[in-house]
Amino acid sequence: MQLIFATHNPGKVIEMQAMLAGLPITVQSADNAGVHEDVVEDGVTFAENALKKARFVSQKTGQWAVADDSGLSIDALDGAPGVFSARWAGEGASDADLIQHTLDELQGVPEHRRSAWFESAAALVSPDGQEWVFTGKIDGTIPLQPRGTPRPKLPYDTIFIPDGHDRTFGEMSDEEKNGMSHRGEAFRQLKALLQSVVSA
Ligand code: IMP
Repeated sequence: MQLIFATHNPGKVIEMQAMLAGLPITVQSADNAGVHEDVVEDGVTFAENALKKARFVSQKTGQWAVADDSGLSIDALDGAPGVFSARWAGEGASDADLIQHTLDELQGVPEHRRSAWFESAAALVSPDGQEWVFTGKIDGTIPLQPRGTPRPKLPYDTIFIPDGHDRTFGEMSDEEKNGMSHRGEAFRQLKALLQSVVSA
């Protein structure tokens, strides 16, 4: 099976290839499959945005396509930034700007009121138009200062401490983070579905 990942983030393609290693599935980026246009991510939920991207790439290529969308929501900010997580510090904001913007928005909010959650939706679309969406969520808190190392294009890792832990995602190995993260949870369900498809 050829699976096209509707993303311009090469890190995500590598992560997906590693996750599906051992299955008879080749993962390619949308760019490599000749799809260079972007869809507008104007859905109000992660699931809507993920489905929109996967549908677009599947229709363009005639192949299986997968897409994900995710973000951070903060209770004290009424769920912001949510689907705007990549954009709420303005166009062209760096990872460091996104971290600083989040801490600025939470200025004066005490530690016990800094609860937040990460959500992820992974959408899969088959060449004949069947659609699946898998979701994952993890609760945690936003510390007063960043700690650890942010992963490329995943800035909030340094300001998210999952519940039941005292380290940020930025202080955890990939393996430890993926074992509990929102994206890990959604991707494990996606993998199970793909496994059943290729073994059918
Ligand atoms: P996207 O799903 O790649 O579009 O990411 C949306 C936004 O959420 C980006 O700004 C990411 O940095 C942020 N985000 C999603 N998941 C994580 C994570 O696991 N760690 C840090 N930031 C994340």
